[in-house]
Amino acid sequence: MQNPHVVRNLIDYAAFGRSESFALRLVEAAVDGRPFEHPSVMNLPDVSPVIMGQSELYPHEVCGKVEQFIGCKRKCKFCHYSWARKYRGPAGDYIQTSVAASSPEITWDRLRGIDRKHGRIRSALDGFSQRLRACYGKRITRSDVIGGIEHVGSFGGTSTVLAYNISNMPTETDADKKELYATFAEAQPKGRVIVVLQSTPFRPSNLTPMQWEPVRLAPTMSDLSAQVIVDRPNLRAMHSFSNEGPWSHLVTVVAERATAATDACWEAICFAPKLQSNPAADKVRRLSAHFDLASYLRKYEIDEPHPADFLTSFTQKEKLRAVARRMRAEAERTSADV
Ligand code: SF4
Repeated sequence: MQNPHVVRNLIDYAAFGRSESFALRLVEAAVDGRPFEHPSVMNLPDVSPVIMGQSELYPHEVCGKVEQFIGCKRKCKFCHYSWARKYRGPAGDYIQTSVAASSPEITWDRLRGIDRKHGRIRSALDGFSQRLRACYGKRITRSDVIGGIEHVGSFGGTSTVLAYNISNMPTETDADKKELYATFAEAQPKGRVIVVLQSTPFRPSNLTPMQWEPVRLAPTMSDLSAQVIVDRPNLRAMHSFSNEGPWSHLVTVVAERATAATDACWEAICFAPKLQSNPAADKVRRLSAHFDLASYLRKYEIDEPHPADFLTSFTQKEKLRAVARRMRAEAERTSADV
């Protein structure tokens, strides 16, 4: 749970973060109809200050495996997982699944380290341009993008790279998008590589240095779904078939930045008949005609009150603010250079 406002009248308790160390006691309290006192639990409907829960590695086997790590040390500026979860696990850093797996998920900088052909690999770029990636967390250069594709294709045959991306980043322009297209076009893999770009629009996740950043519903990435970026015998790069549209983007942002004042808007999102059946773009227009959406979409000053100020984590708010100030200044400076 990150923000309980939209469900606070429907549920009794909200647990923030890992809860396995107290989940059984919480269930016992629920059975007895008692409040449950814990720094990571809210007794709803009161929204009170709460700490995103930490935990040790889960000590028991699940399906024959034990948990290896939690958290991530890389600190991409948009990543709730990294800023709200202290890393615990072996030395080294984030690898979601081992490269020994049949369809591994690895960070882009490790693509050049794989030593055999994989039919399908999942990785992440998280920004259309080198500038955006550098501002918001990923030190992936243009030559890393090219080198990764060429290395994946060096084993011959056909390989597919599913590249997760974040679109609609603050300060993003068409020039950033075109940079990635041009970068893909420069890659000359020996075998055939298919790159599928899965772009999810940016959301200012709470408890991250980007929580104060603005949300941009346009451009609409769903309009680019399935469009081909590069098509040659050795490389096909294309947008995913299922990029997210502006309505689901907006709804999730409303939930994440909700306050008690959101109730009427949320009621409309869930139940207003005309919002249940119309095309997505029309729903956004209709909702904006009846509600002021600025508090969900706007840029917040880093020192002003924020809708999720009730939340804290192991990362001190002052630290988040300091990182946010530097990041915002860098994004604005480099965007002026473009
Ligand atoms: S987005 Fe960045 S910080 Fe978050 S898990 Fe991935 S590599 Fe780690």
